[in-house]
Amino acid sequence: MEAIGNTPVVRLKRIFPNAHVVAKLEYMNPGGSIKDRMVRHMLKSMPKGTERVVESSSGNTGAALAMASAIFGLRCDVTVPETTSNEKIKRIGAYGARVHLCSVDSERATELGYHAVAERIAKEDDAFYLDQYCSDLNREAHYTDTGPELWTQLDGEIDVFLCGIGSGGTISGIGRYLKERNPALRVIGVEPLHSSYRKVVTDAPTQGQFGTVIEGVGKLQPSSSFDPSVVDDVLQVSDEQALVWGRRLAREEGILVGGSSGCVAAGIAALLPKLQGMRIATLFPDSGVFYLSKYS
Ligand code: PMP
Repeated sequence: MEAIGNTPVVRLKRIFPNAHVVAKLEYMNPGGSIKDRMVRHMLKSMPKGTERVVESSSGNTGAALAMASAIFGLRCDVTVPETTSNEKIKRIGAYGARVHLCSVDSERATELGYHAVAERIAKEDDAFYLDQYCSDLNREAHYTDTGPELWTQLDGEIDVFLCGIGSGGTISGIGRYLKERNPALRVIGVEPLHSSYRKVVTDAPTQGQFGTVIEGVGKLQPSSSFDPSVVDDVLQVSDEQALVWGRRLAREEGILVGGSSGCVAAGIAALLPKLQGMRIATLFPDSGVFYLSKYS
């Protein structure tokens, strides 16, 4: 657990040669994603004597929790949408956790959705439910850990922070910390087309129907972990653009990341003309290794 964090920050010189863009490589956490940090933080509030844990996840939180459960000797159940990549599902199982594949389009709405199934398991089995989508501890993890780490690594030299939005914990926690240090700093979210956060922040109507092949970002319903007060704008990018920029990161920068990192890179590319001369930072939540059979 102590190996979590202190991930490197690298400059993206090849795909953004005429700009100052840096990315924090969160896939270098031991469980393979940024979610290791949040799980470590949330488990601090786990009631003493807990034997079972459960979480609804797009895969990475599940893996982080499964890893921690192996360390602490907990029985772990993870519910994921059925569209989750095979590698992510197998990764959770490899740590000895149980994976429940759930219907995807219902989210919280029906009892078949991955949140509802996790809630049921929590009740029936008396398991500790982390509930990242509704817990203040999610953004708190990034406010107390990821945000200060990024600020220190960059010596405060950052004008704009761009970040993908899933539960909203990362952008809300880091965004709040960075703005407290520098109120002039801009925080911009990036999400797939027709996802729900753009409307929350800008009031722009959502027109098309939501649906994305990118994992980890994009929500049909905004999550209460998202704090719109620290987000200045939300940009939407197509899945195609996200995958194109993800591929460019691998082939031109040697950085093999998941689709949500491609999504944020596509967002940076689209905004660059408006951000001339600014020092831009982002983070790449997970590795492309988890999607090799899905996108290649
Ligand atoms: N990218 C990936 C791959 C993720 O797993 C997640 C978490 N769902 C995110 C981005 C978004 O992070 P957050 O939930 O903190 O908004």
